[in-house]
Amino acid sequence: LSVFYGPVLSKRFGRSLGIDIIDFKCCEYDCIYCQLGRTTDKRVGRKHFEKIKIEDFKRGLEDKIKRGPKPDFITFSGSGEPLLEKDIARYIKAAKSVSDIPVAVLTGGGLLGLDDALQDIMEADLIKVSVDGPNEELLQKINRPCSQISFKKNIEGLGRLAASFGGRIWVEIMMIGGINDDMGTINAFKSLFDGLNASIEKIHLNTPTRPSAGSFFKPTGSQKLKVLKDLLGDRAEIVKDLKSDDPAEGPKAGLEDVIEMLKRRPCTLEELSAALDMNINEVIKLISFMLSKSMISCSGTDKDKYYYLRKKETV
Ligand code: SF4
Repeated sequence: LSVFYGPVLSKRFGRSLGIDIIDFKCCEYDCIYCQLGRTTDKRVGRKHFEKIKIEDFKRGLEDKIKRGPKPDFITFSGSGEPLLEKDIARYIKAAKSVSDIPVAVLTGGGLLGLDDALQDIMEADLIKVSVDGPNEELLQKINRPCSQISFKKNIEGLGRLAASFGGRIWVEIMMIGGINDDMGTINAFKSLFDGLNASIEKIHLNTPTRPSAGSFFKPTGSQKLKVLKDLLGDRAEIVKDLKSDDPAEGPKAGLEDVIEMLKRRPCTLEELSAALDMNINEVIKLISFMLSKSMISCSGTDKDKYYYLRKKETV
């Protein structure tokens, strides 16, 4: 499967060319809201996933960029935690060697306590870190991390990153109705970010607007998001309703390909990803979009969920 996906349009990153260099759902977390489903390889141990050789990576990336349109960011993200790839520094360097497009790394933040992981992302231009809870209790409840991870280590790592990184740092908070959006937690977020280095450029306030693969969580209402935004000051932004992430505004071919496949037989996400040679994230975005438009239905267990076209699409 290709390690490149997109470019996808995103409100925050513009046109973002995704890079996925790790195995599907390999992560230090198992977030309750994760759209990719439950983590199947939960680990803090970094390794080389051998997804692509550096030379092929450079060639493939050059090709992708040449075919256009030019992305605004090359984004290491994907189907788990990119920092688990122990050669990520080499991939970042390679990405920077083929173009002048800024390189972003999206991390859950659970490995920031590790010196080697922190060092390995220093060449990036932008790092986006998730901080979904202002304390240990909410880290455990929302992110369900590996036992070696603690809130204290994460925040110390984020502090060290903010003190030494030359690029831009963005933080994202996923607000979930009834879980981390009460006034006590909102005030605790304020104290946390007041104490963190001012070099954190932006704090994005997000809330789940699509069902996760596991359960559905209530989004936090606009009023509460605004309360937190006002408390956090100018660097906070609400990113609810990411309409531009809608795949219908991205490459149309992907959607048609998925429809063609589903006309033939119901498929799982993995089957679609393998058959269409598309990154699983791209497939998930398309499937979420199709579910939201009632174009498809699904059946089966969380582990083996099959998607099929609703009647009107099959005729
Ligand atoms: S950090 Fe990201 S990929 Fe990992 S479980 Fe959480 S939402 Fe999913």
